[in-house]
Amino acid sequence: MGELNRKKAWELLSLLDTKEISAVELTQSCLAEIDRSGKKLNSFITVLSDSALEKAREVDVKRSKGLPVGRLAGVPVAVKDILCTKGVRTTCGSRILQNFFPPYDATVIRKLKEADAVVIGKTNMDEFAMGSSTEHSAFGPTLNPIDPARVPGGSSGGSAAAVTAHQTILALGTDTGGSVRQPASLCGIAGFRPTYGAVSRYGLVAFASSLDQISPFAKDARDLWLISDVISGHDRRDSTSIPERLFDYPYSGFKGKAGLPKTTRFGIPKEFWGEGLAPEVREAVRGTIDKVSKAGYEVEEVSLPALSAGIAVYYIICTAEASSNLARYDGVKYGVRVNDYADLFEMYAKTRAAGFGAEVKRRIILGTYVLSAGYYDAYYLKAQKVRAVMKKEFAEVFKKVDFLLGPTTPSAAFKLGEKTDDPLEMYLNDIYTVPVNLVGVPAVSIPCGKNREGLPMGLQIIGPQKKDEIVLKAAIMLESLGIKL
Ligand code: GLN
Repeated sequence: MGELNRKKAWELLSLLDTKEISAVELTQSCLAEIDRSGKKLNSFITVLSDSALEKAREVDVKRSKGLPVGRLAGVPVAVKDILCTKGVRTTCGSRILQNFFPPYDATVIRKLKEADAVVIGKTNMDEFAMGSSTEHSAFGPTLNPIDPARVPGGSSGGSAAAVTAHQTILALGTDTGGSVRQPASLCGIAGFRPTYGAVSRYGLVAFASSLDQISPFAKDARDLWLISDVISGHDRRDSTSIPERLFDYPYSGFKGKAGLPKTTRFGIPKEFWGEGLAPEVREAVRGTIDKVSKAGYEVEEVSLPALSAGIAVYYIICTAEASSNLARYDGVKYGVRVNDYADLFEMYAKTRAAGFGAEVKRRIILGTYVLSAGYYDAYYLKAQKVRAVMKKEFAEVFKKVDFLLGPTTPSAAFKLGEKTDDPLEMYLNDIYTVPVNLVGVPAVSIPCGKNREGLPMGLQIIGPQKKDEIVLKAAIMLESLGIKL
């Protein structure tokens, strides 16, 4: 049978359904791996061994009695510690929430439980999802399982590392500016950011509300489809949730069909090939694009000039929204409070000074600045205007092509500590991912090769709004071209 935890969810589900394996065995194989490598990689903040095994037992009983089971019955899923879990500590990687036990489950957690998935633990992350390396966690950095001297990417680095190290089968992260696609690329797995509003944000601790989106990690695109189908759908508790169903259950539509119609057109944005792109990434992504065109698809160069402003616009809007969202951590309602203070104002100030890490403080200061009376028009409003232009450009380009293809990140995984002293260097890692969040479209990263040191690199496929299923279909097609190494 081989090691169960190395298999994909869709393979495991058929073994579970035919009772060749049990959910308890599968959960134990993941827990054993967490025991072996979890501490070293620092991928989890909380491991839920007892409740996971209890759920697995419950699923096995249901199956043995022939009762109906959910779509992920018995499959271990790790969740980023930014998703509220009832009665289970939810820290957001921050000292300020180190004592926060939410009284309710996020909608996605409820959906996972209803689908009979086994929630195996809460994963490490950059504090409040701010970062690209998982080095900004109050609980210490997560290491990349492929090379522990390197970062796994961020901010959902714990979830990415857990899937890569086979500590779980599937995982959830959040992607506000690339925090699922970028770590997927750096760890050599698949990560999908759905259309904005496709997955409810209820119970997701907010960083930048107009950009945040819960997003899954898996070993391949077919598994991404499986979990996306479970977690998406309208939720009246999230006013930005969209009404449409984006996934057409069951999966049979994809089965055995490698192909998209040969008339499918892929656009290559010329802005994605500029300065800063490592030659090895350029080569790997170009190689993949050549295979796409050899397979008979149309590939053409396109241009989206506003992309060049992506990083600037993103870091104005996300910091502005963060400065507002994080105002709630004041030592009063929940979270940590510093108890040595003279008056209310000093309590706020001391609590926030002690509770937040440097990157979070940097963003609150920057966000407050771009929203302040004298600078609002010059920065925040201008950024919103450029964002609108970007949306128009995407809408135009998707009249000509079905998908955009390009790199996910400018380089393979970098060394721990390499970029922590230079926030701008760290921000530049998001250059190819943030435009997707600014315009709210779906995008997936799949592995497209390894460099000489054996480090993985990712290819990004971007599609039009609400075409989530087709984007994953394209990813499955590309994987079937033998692109995955
Ligand atoms: N790395 C980006 C940032 O630091 C993206 C974060 C994210 O997607 N959560 O903001």
